[in-house]
Amino acid sequence: MLSKNYQRKIIPVSWCNFLTDYPDIFDSIYSLDKKPIMNLGKQNVAPKQPLTILKQSFNRVDKEIQIPEELRELYLMYRPTPLCRAVRLEKRLNCNTKIYYKYEGNNISGSHKLNTALAQAYFYKKAGVEHVVTGTGAGQWGTAIAYACKLFGLQCTIFMVDISLRQKPQRASLMKMFGATVYSSPSTETDVGKKALLQDQKRMGSLSIASAEAIEMSNRTEKTQFAIGSGENCVLLHQTIIGNEAINQIEDEQATFPDYIFACMGAGSNFAGIGLPFLRKMAEIGNACHLVAVEPVACPKLTKGIYAYEVNDFSGSTPISKMYTLGNDFIVPGIHAGGLRYHGTSEFLSGMYYNGLFFACSLGQLEAMQAAALFFESEGLLVAPESAYAIGGAIKYINEKRMPLENKTVLINISGNGFFDFAAYQDFNSGNLNDEYPDPVSIKESIDKLKEKNKF
Ligand SMILES: *Cc1c(COP(=O)(O)O)cnc(C)c1O
Repeated sequence: MLSKNYQRKIIPVSWCNFLTDYPDIFDSIYSLDKKPIMNLGKQNVAPKQPLTILKQSFNRVDKEIQIPEELRELYLMYRPTPLCRAVRLEKRLNCNTKIYYKYEGNNISGSHKLNTALAQAYFYKKAGVEHVVTGTGAGQWGTAIAYACKLFGLQCTIFMVDISLRQKPQRASLMKMFGATVYSSPSTETDVGKKALLQDQKRMGSLSIASAEAIEMSNRTEKTQFAIGSGENCVLLHQTIIGNEAINQIEDEQATFPDYIFACMGAGSNFAGIGLPFLRKMAEIGNACHLVAVEPVACPKLTKGIYAYEVNDFSGSTPISKMYTLGNDFIVPGIHAGGLRYHGTSEFLSGMYYNGLFFACSLGQLEAMQAAALFFESEGLLVAPESAYAIGGAIKYINEKRMPLENKTVLINISGNGFFDFAAYQDFNSGNLNDEYPDPVSIKESIDKLKEKNKF
């Protein structure tokens, strides 16, 4: 194990407040006069969150935000996370691109989600909250927040997407072991859930339904509040610990800075977390650095969606945001990468993408799992199906020479481990894995509806 001194030297002391790096984008998104009041949501109540966290989401002044010492001490449990060179993968690909990866799967949640869960639980506790309610898709977020709540003595209720709960019941067991109450969503606990049950006969569920259920419950009592695993600026901010830490590691080892960074794109927290600190750093030292977001063909919000105002959740009770989206009632095929099944993208990242500040590509799940299998053989790491897309994207760019990657350095963010995802690997190994293309008609219908609401 690393010495505590080394750990304390490498674990960042602050988060990178990227909001201050793009003032024009900040203005274009958050100036009130630009937000049309539309017939999208019922009442646009903001989910309840402590002021400290809300302030983090809209802080346009402080370039760096200090990580509280108590929280840094907790990060010592599993940080710094490994930054490694994938030497054997480079050999297998027979390329002269240097490939580094940062591995965030080394904690009980199995993913980067614990970074923000600990931060949110810390700030909630400080704000006097007693009960935290949330929705979880694949279950990494649920596990992370259940554990964080346990550490801070907070009560925790989790709505878990039904299809994921059936695929990964072990994750729900972990949450319960940490004392959380877990409901399969859609549930009969809330009005939103009951309404969704009527429409969703196959009981697939979706993160937007689970979140809507959590928001409804969080509005029942004063001391109950809503926590969220991704998308919000504050969550992206907490995740910049990944990029800041990788920068410290590279400087400490005098290794090469990356020219390209690949991360999978759900609502954007691991992508922003690794990428945005590097964009700042590279601009400071005058080098170019390109970010590539990799999304599944099953849920192609950046590559096939539109930039439009949309509600974030199924009930339409959250504030509208302008984002790349496929529409909030678009039903995403049941791919293994549950964490990438969200219909939209972070508001701020959407603004950045609209302004051409990063690239995006989409990948079928077969190609992603092929990449994960190759990574497993060469590096000995079983990665989450979500992270498989980041690896697959990088391999695709290298093999297809999409960009001049010869003699360049690539950094891949491995957002999680695949220990609860054997089903994905089994399907892949037995040849039962297909590329799940969404029905083009359903994408078109959902987008037409959006255009109508946005009056395009
Ligand atoms: C939640 C999750 C994702 C997707 O979420 P982002 O906010 O886009 O990072 C990706 N990988 C894993 C392992 C996850 O748990």
